[in-house]
Order: sequence, then structure tokens, then C-alpha cells
Amino acid sequence: MKSLWSDSDAESFVARYGANRDLGLRVYTTRLLGGDPRLVLHGGGNTSVKTTVTDLVGDSVAVLCVKGSGWDMGNIEPAGLPAVRLAPLLKLRTLDRLSDEDMVNYQRGNLMDSTSPNPSVETLLHAFLPHKFIDHTHATAVLSLTDQPDGEEICRALYGKRMGYVPYIMPGFALARTAAEVFDQDPTVEGLVLLKHGIFTFGATAREAYERMIAMVSLAEARLQQGRKPVFAAAALPARPASVAQVAPVIRGLLALDRGEGAYRRWVLDFRTSPAIRAYVDGAEVGRYSQVGVDTPDHTIRTKNRPVVLPAPAADDLEAWSGAAKAAVAAYVEGYHAYFARNNVRAAPKKTELDPMPRVVLVPGLGLFGVGASKKDAAIAADIAVNTVESVTDAEAIGTYRPVSEADMFDCEYWSLEQAKLGKGAEKGLARQVVVVTGGGSGIGAATAKAFARDGAEVVVLDLNEGAAVQVARECGGTALGLACDVTDPASVRAAFDAACAAFGGVDVVVSNAGAAWQGTVGTVDDAVLRTSFELNFFAHQTVSANAVRVMQAQGTGGCLLFNTSKQALNPGKNFGPYGLPKAATLFLMKQYALDHGKDGIRANAVNADRIRTGLLTEAMIASRSTARGVTEKDYMAGNLLGREVSAGDVADAFLWLAKAMKTTACTVTVDGGNIEASLR
Ligand code: ZN
Repeated sequence: MKSLWSDSDAESFVARYGANRDLGLRVYTTRLLGGDPRLVLHGGGNTSVKTTVTDLVGDSVAVLCVKGSGWDMGNIEPAGLPAVRLAPLLKLRTLDRLSDEDMVNYQRGNLMDSTSPNPSVETLLHAFLPHKFIDHTHATAVLSLTDQPDGEEICRALYGKRMGYVPYIMPGFALARTAAEVFDQDPTVEGLVLLKHGIFTFGATAREAYERMIAMVSLAEARLQQGRKPVFAAAALPARPASVAQVAPVIRGLLALDRGEGAYRRWVLDFRTSPAIRAYVDGAEVGRYSQVGVDTPDHTIRTKNRPVVLPAPAADDLEAWSGAAKAAVAAYVEGYHAYFARNNVRAAPKKTELDPMPRVVLVPGLGLFGVGASKKDAAIAADIAVNTVESVTDAEAIGTYRPVSEADMFDCEYWSLEQAKLGKGAEKGLARQVVVVTGGGSGIGAATAKAFARDGAEVVVLDLNEGAAVQVARECGGTALGLACDVTDPASVRAAFDAACAAFGGVDVVVSNAGAAWQGTVGTVDDAVLRTSFELNFFAHQTVSANAVRVMQAQGTGGCLLFNTSKQALNPGKNFGPYGLPKAATLFLMKQYALDHGKDGIRANAVNADRIRTGLLTEAMIASRSTARGVTEKDYMAGNLLGREVSAGDVADAFLWLAKAMKTTACTVTVDGGNIEASLR
């Protein structure tokens, strides 16, 4: 590991945040540390600087600027390093004990800015040490050394008197006091190794503290290259493993909690694989080393203590695999209940059990899945799991991986401040659901994709025009995916659904929206025009729906098919037969899906939209195979009963409502400002 320190970069940070030179340098090296996943992952680590600020009445106040919760070290700003009055913090060292709630409250009470985030739970550890700059990471290489039965001896042999050694204690007041006592025994140390937790380094300058961190982690990395033994002898695997797209919906279904009446608490998946991950998950002993626990306790919040290990899936025997996977998940859940019960016995006050589902799924022959309430959360769990693969691989190569005890991990998972957050922050209506929108690159499709994204869904935007799909996905924000798809080509549709399954784990809602208008007098129109229109305005809806049903049946958690039909399906327009005929068939298709797949919990509904300024016109224009001949804006903007302009957003709102209408199927919702000839019943 190399130092990335640069004088000119450091000075540019000072120039940018010039009010306080110390803080500018603190931001700089915090970002250096936070930018390397071998040092810091998703909030795991913190830094501080002791400096002085001037308060409102002109008094100079000694403060500790320490990382605030909720900030990522990799892109931290001065606001992410709230200033806490130092003198009151130091007084706490004389206490015998201090609850986490009182500690957080006291720290908040001594903030210079009352709107700051909560200072880190490791604030007192930073305060009790005398150094100006203090850096703390959960460096992977250090964890591989400390997470051993003889981790302390290994570290002492490596670092000698350059470091102090702190036994494992859960972060908070007790750890801060013990760490300060270890330091006091030999104030010449350059840092502290927190056994089975991480590492602190400190110095008089930002550069000194940072470069000591790099030096200590580099020594750990070098140590891991000595005396390595081969690890992870591979287990026997199926000759032809199933694909990620095949197994992901099954896994997603197994993890979903049935809440009755067609509602499920679903999860989003994030798949990872690499030669290192494969060596780990394919290992004959994966059931041992993967079940010992997380490499540093705060990962528990994101990944739980253990992943679930599934059997290796064979492409030609998915059914048997599904049954075995179901049993493995059930055993995991049972094991989690038992873990909670045996540890809650000694908890005071008693804890509320968290949901028992795994956050990491290991699949021999494929790789691993992170599991989360959103793609973002799933990716965080996957990032940590990938990092754990590395630390466990190195730990096993030089010895035996042995992290903290189950009781210690329980205390982190059921930390009182985390328990206090339970039940707060309601999720959005379509959170945890994956939505595919065809023809999503513009008009109604684009508006619908964005409306679903705003309501919390993970969105896959499909369009013939890849650039448009990618652009709309970007506008959806977050983790939306934009893909090229020709809905009239079954192979292209299959590939798009496979990509959705690989990216998010499955599909819950499909908005089959792609379409285009062709005209012609029915008695004279060329058959080719009619057939072309049927390909896009009928058969494509069938291909998309059949793929959706295949995925939804694998998940076993129901689903929703939504079709963009047209007023033409009910109320033929003159010379619009080539458009209206397949749309009428698609309206019937919707009813047939509702009828045949209601037993699977799959709902099918349609939106009958008309006279959309940006909808049909654009829909027609973007279809590269044809443009709407003779369709003028005037035709679409003709008066409606309400005399109101209907927008793509109005249609999107109807799709959104139908996606959530758990008791509605085989329904057509009209969004046209009022057209009595196209009204239903
Ligand atoms: Zn820590």
C-alpha cells in the first residue's frame, strides 16, 4: 500500500476550505483513507483533528472535529466533521460508566453547531488521545492478522513497541477509556491495534498520522505474504452450472416474506463474482469458514453475522436445486431465531428481534449475492462480503480465521442506538420492487419510469434506442438501468429480462408500453403494414408478458403486468385499423393474463390513454421501423370532455396506481380527459 500524500493536493484542500487550515488537511487525508476499500468500507472508520475555533462572542474554543455519522470518508466535507467542545469531552474520562444514549446526548450538547450530525460513536476515543490528528480504519489486512486465535501475538511480533494493543471491546465509552489506558502505558506508540476491530494511528500532522496508517497496513500486507498455505480446496460442482439470471429470481422469492393478500416484503439482489470469490464459495469447507462471523463487528449491521450457503445449482436440475435452496434458507432462519433467543437471554433491556433473512447469499459455482431493501443497500452488503472474502482468504492462508465471539457480534447487531431506530422512516410505496418499462426512452414510457423511480422502485428502462434508455435511466437517478431492447425480437426480450434478473434479482412489475401507430384504410391497406403493426402492438406485448410470467413464477411472489392500450382498442378511428386492431387484441391479451395467471398472484391491467401531447406522437416518431403517417398534433389535441390537456405524467400516475392496486385485475383505466365513445361500460 502506497502513500498518496501530495503537498500540492493538500494545499488545494487548504485553499478550498481556507477558514481553518487544520480542517482542510483533515478533509484531505480523510478522503485519501476513505477512497481505498482496503482501508475503509461504507462508514467503517473515522478521523479527527483537534483545533481551535472562534465562537460568536469572539472566544477561542478548543474543539475536536470528528467524523459525523452518515458521512462517507471518501467524499467528506467540513460539515461531515462536526466540532465538539474538547474540554467537556475530556472530563468524561473520570466516569466509571456511561450509557451510549447519555454519551450521544452529551456529545450533541457540546456541538458548536446544533444542526451537525451526531459525532462518531468513537468520538471519546479520539478525544482521550492527545494527538492532533487521529486516523482510524478497519483495514482488511490488519483484520486478517487480528482475527486469529493468536491474533495479538501475531500483531505484537509484527509491530513490537511501535503499536499499543487494545483487547476487543464494543465501541463506546468503555473502549475509549481502555484505549486511553493502553496508550498511557507507553505514549511513544504510533498507533493502536484494536484486536478484531481495526487500527488507529496518530500524529502531530495530517501527513504523519496518514503515513503511519499506510506504513502499518503495508507491514500487515507483507506479513500476509509469509508462510502462506494453500486454502479452499474446491468441492465437486455441477458440470453445467445454472446462470445468475436463472437462480436469482428463485433466491429472491425464497427471501421474500409473505405478508398476506398478495403483499410481500421483497429484497433486491446484487451479484458479484471473481476468481477470488469463486475460490471462496466453491471451497469444500465453505460451511465452516463462512459461518464464523464478520471480520469487524460493525459489518454485522449490513451483512448480519453469517451468510446463507446454498447448494451449487445445475442448469439441468433447477427444480431439485430450488427445493434444496428453500431448505437452506429455512434452516438459516431457524438458526437466526435460535441465535437471537440464546443471546437475548442476557440482554437488559430485552431486544426486539430483527428480520431473520440473510444479507449475503453464497452460491457455489457462481459467486455471491448482496441482499438489501434497495439496490444501493444490496451493493453495500455485497461490497462488504467481497471484502470479507479477501480478509478470510488471507486469514486462512496464514492460520485460522477467528473473529469476535457471537455474543460480541450480537451486541453490535442489537446495539441500543440501532434498536431505537426500528420502525422509523417509512419506505416508499414501491420500494423493494423491480419494474421493467418497455418503450421507456421517451414520452409515456419515460414519464412512467421516472414516476416508478420516485416511488422507490428499482427501474429497468428498455428502448429500441439505447442512448434514450440510458439517458432516462440516468434521469431516474440512483441505480436505474437503461438497456437496448427490440421488443419484437424474442431473443432481445429474453436478454433484457435476464439482464434485469442479473442486476436486481428479478422482476415484479412490467409496463408493456412500447408501441407505434400505423394508418391505412382497412380494405386496401397492405398486409405487410398490418402484420408489422401486429408484431409491435400485439406480439411484442405477448413476448414481454410471457418473459415476465416466467420470472414471476420463479419468484413465486405474484406480480403485475401493465399494458399501454389505446382508445383505438375500444373506439376505432377512421383509417386507424392497422393500429386499433392489434391494440384491441392486446386489450384482450390483458384479460387473458388476468384470467390464466390470477392463480399465480399475477395481476394484469391496462391504461387506455388518448390525446397525449408528448405521448403518442413521440411514441410514433421514435419507432425507427415506421413513422406515423399523417398523424398531426391537431388530431391528438382535439377537445375532450373536460377540455384539459392530458400529459404523459397523467398516464404514468395511472400505471403507478395500478401497480399498487392489490385488489384490481383485468381492469382498464382511461386517461384521456373524457371521450364518451371510448368509455367502458
Ligand atoms: Zn471502528
